[in-house]
Amino acid sequence: MDFSKYRVEPGKPFDPAAWPTREGDEFGGGKKAARKELRKIGKRLSELQARLYAEGEQSLLIVLQGMDTAGKDGTIRHVFSMVNPQGVRVTSFKKPTPEELAHDYLWRVHAHTPARGEIGIFNRSHYEDVLVVRVHDLVPPEVWKKRYDHINAFEKLLADEGTRIVKFFLHISREEQKERLEARLANPEKHWKFNPADLAERARWDDYMEAYRAALTRTSTEYAPWYAVPADRKWQRNLIVGRVLLQVLEEMDPQFPQIDFDPEAIRVE
Ligand code: AMP
Ligand code: MG
Repeated sequence: MDFSKYRVEPGKPFDPAAWPTREGDEFGGGKKAARKELRKIGKRLSELQARLYAEGEQSLLIVLQGMDTAGKDGTIRHVFSMVNPQGVRVTSFKKPTPEELAHDYLWRVHAHTPARGEIGIFNRSHYEDVLVVRVHDLVPPEVWKKRYDHINAFEKLLADEGTRIVKFFLHISREEQKERLEARLANPEKHWKFNPADLAERARWDDYMEAYRAALTRTSTEYAPWYAVPADRKWQRNLIVGRVLLQVLEEMDPQFPQIDFDPEAIRVE
């Protein structure tokens, strides 16, 4: 199967307006078949994660970006439900603290990149520094304009030193976000997820799409590609992310380390 259709080709322009936010009902053989496939993927991911950890040589960094309600938390919950929590570290990047703001914007990010053997998941990331920061003029244009190059160089450094990087933009439509925000308001168990400030972000939708357009166009590289995932349907989103990650981990092909003893010659008293 060809999952590269969701990959933003390095050097080619990305246009969110022209990119789908959903596939047809028949995608993945339909909802039921898609869920079944995801469970199989989850099992295999878990095996590969165990090998990655045992090998202790390579690391995997997964970046998740998307508008509010795009499903960053849900993707982590569903796709990694079967993976041993010991080998996976999720970092959520919030509004920077005063200490973080007193440093360059990559300082706090580098501190959380995965160690050898680990899978690191960024729930939001350094990309906020060319997204929310750009939309809200938190720094002047001459400052954020330089950041695409910094980010590419930073990710190249990580890749050269043994980190595989995969970036997902969970692409939802403005209409779908409306429904999800309304659902949060209607369900007391989801109230905590609703932040009245999200409405101000929603009002800047077009500015965000412009910022995402620029970010994905300028930072999808061979060593750290972006995948723009249709995310209006959660089961489609989960399956696409799962398939891409499985392909990536299979390519990384982690191996259990060679042992330097003969297990048959050893007796445990
Ligand atoms: P949530 O993902 O709902 O927990 O919200 C986290 C909030 O932190 C979002 O509104 C982000 O835009 C914001 N945020 C994350 N990183 C930055 C940053 N570098 N500068 C400003 N705001 C940020
Ligand atoms: Mg939020």
